Amino acid sequence: MSDTCTFCKILRSELPASFVYQDNDISAFLDIHPINRGHTLIVPNVHFEFFDQIPSQVFAKMTNTAQEIQRAFAKAGIIAEGSNVFLSNGEIAGQEVPHAHLHITPRYRGDGHRMVFSGTDPDPVARLELNQISKSISSALKQMDWMPPRLEGARVLLRPIVELTATNDS
Ligand SMILES: [Zn+2]
Repeated sequence: MSDTCTFCKILRSELPASFVYQDNDISAFLDIHPINRGHTLIVPNVHFEFFDQIPSQVFAKMTNTAQEIQRAFAKAGIIAEGSNVFLSNGEIAGQEVPHAHLHITPRYRGDGHRMVFSGTDPDPVARLELNQISKSISSALKQMDWMPPRLEGARVLLRPIVELTATNDS
């Protein structure tokens, strides 16, 4: 918990919020500046500034809840022909509250919004360069001795995936 963080204050009931869902690990409440009606923020109950600091199980719960909220929109009378599910990580990426949060924003035809980075399509990158970048990231992942988490729920069991062998750089 942080003394000054807006979301921590909401979680301590020091600031008002309109909650959609809450359990021991995560909370979901409406964005006070919604892009569209039903725009929801999903946060870990413990203060983490960046999403890669959130324990995997808790982050999995956040994404799972985003799926469930998407399914609930229609029943709730929220217009959501589609949605943008996104997370802005760090101030440079547009993160406005330093408490990691996942957005789920209903979208519909004619809502007047666009998700853009620059307004123009970035130039395509040559395959050779893409392969070099993917190789750098994948070997960094290997050096980190990282294993995808094993997620177990009442109805699901997600095992770690088998490592993908790179075959596209020949
Ligand atoms: Zn916080």
